[in-house]
Amino acid sequence: MTEELPHWIGGTRTAGGSGRTLPIENPATGEIERHAPMANAGEVDAAVQAAARAFPAWSATPPAKRAQVMFKFREKIHQHMDEITELVSREHGKTLADARGSLMRGLEVLEFTCGIQQFLKGELSPDVATGIDLSDIRQPLGVCAGITPFNFPEMIPLWMFPMAIACGNTFVLKPSEQDPSAPLRLAELMHEAGLPEGVLNVVHGDREAVDSILDHPQIEGVSFVGSTKVAEVIRRRGTANGKRVQAFGGAKNHMVVMPDADMDQAADALLGAGYGAAGERCMAVSVAVPVGQETGDALIERLAPRVRNLKIGPYTDTEADMGPLISSAAKERVEGYVETGIQEGAEAVVDGRGLTLQGYENGHFMGGTLFDRVTTDMRIYKEEIFGPVLSVVRADTPQQALDITNGHEYGNGAAIFTSDGDTARAFANQVQYGMVGVNVPIPVPPAYHSFGGWKRSIFAEHDIYGAEAVRFYTKHKTITARWPSGIGSGAGFNFKGSSDS
Ligand code: NAD
Repeated sequence: MTEELPHWIGGTRTAGGSGRTLPIENPATGEIERHAPMANAGEVDAAVQAAARAFPAWSATPPAKRAQVMFKFREKIHQHMDEITELVSREHGKTLADARGSLMRGLEVLEFTCGIQQFLKGELSPDVATGIDLSDIRQPLGVCAGITPFNFPEMIPLWMFPMAIACGNTFVLKPSEQDPSAPLRLAELMHEAGLPEGVLNVVHGDREAVDSILDHPQIEGVSFVGSTKVAEVIRRRGTANGKRVQAFGGAKNHMVVMPDADMDQAADALLGAGYGAAGERCMAVSVAVPVGQETGDALIERLAPRVRNLKIGPYTDTEADMGPLISSAAKERVEGYVETGIQEGAEAVVDGRGLTLQGYENGHFMGGTLFDRVTTDMRIYKEEIFGPVLSVVRADTPQQALDITNGHEYGNGAAIFTSDGDTARAFANQVQYGMVGVNVPIPVPPAYHSFGGWKRSIFAEHDIYGAEAVRFYTKHKTITARWPSGIGSGAGFNFKGSSDS
């Protein structure tokens, strides 16, 4: 048996007690690196109790002091950047450069929390009536929980717990069971940065742990990122139990290519956005919509050799463009979609199935796949494949391209490549997606804006990170006050307007 990861409960490494574990693989070699304990309801409860005990003191800690911990945590991450990056790549499979980039994006969200005082500042209205002042403040929810997907094992937890904790909440994180080592390490580093015990806890687990979180009466808020199927369940069960829940789901991101676009730039953009991280990104472009048959031909002509020449390798290969898929099950699923696409009548211009790398025969590698003449009734169009598969859906007119894009049930990211400002402006205004790129294929907003899709990519009132996260992780309160000198004599029985004397 390999090493078994501990949970992180109450500021200490805590061995799993359920007797149930799952293996964590290195997707490049197929070797089992370690095992993760799968928490049961009792272990989730232990983490929640630790968080509940820590809440009174932490929520009463001045925001400026909380921010000091965030500054130190940031330093710790910088000191351990290579170690965390390696943990991510080893368990996820993505290249080291890509893992580093996603850690930097998570770090930027953490940096935003270093100025949390600015966002927790209240408002005061003096004299809302004679002698009466009103203040508006925001207070933390209590114990919050985060449930995160495998594809950004460090970045997405960093989108959640620093902001929740900076707002004065305490937190239980349930990272993906497929690559949980990096988030565990982040919790340890935050402790080293001075976070009091119990403020941040990590429990590993699968559905049993998630259900225990959703049913736990002491958890007030839940943030979830993952597939739409699960996001919907999380939202429904969590809100039915009276919790505040934000759940972010899957995607099918479209990129419209106009005839006036620079075709080489468009092809390069599609290559990086479609095949980076083996397509395992919620903002990956998985559908290209060229407008006009000539544009379609020009795009395919440029894309096909680029896709064939993608360099695929383990994360230790610094020349690799992309790594393996996360698991043999993921590879089987994605290759199954390629077969489905062929059966459905799409044209497989490049078929990435059947790739084996010498020395990595047990790795979950797959080459890039490019489909042309995909239609909107095909399963490969309708469903999220979450692999290195790009579908080209040809449109005859800009309006048809817009209609195709808007017709999809998901609404995370959409992009247009064009050199015409009017066309870009009309597309940006009319497209029914939460994040829009103009000549930018993956329009992920920076930390001081917020991230969120539309339609069935989101089940939430608030987007994630940025100012929206402060609203999610806090409750609004008004305090209306007057002092004895302003209180007249006698009881008041009638409602009064502010301007009544
Ligand atoms: P997933 O939905 O399988 O798992 C996400 C989390 O939910 C994990 O922690 C997992 O343990 C848990 N889970 C899985 N099945 C569950 C069930 N039946 N009941 C309760 N909990 C369950 O997602 P994944 O495969 O880890 O990640 C890929 C998905 O995440 C893709 O659909 C991708 O688009 C999406 N994603 C979305 C965003 C976004 O911001 N919208 C960002 C990243 C990933």
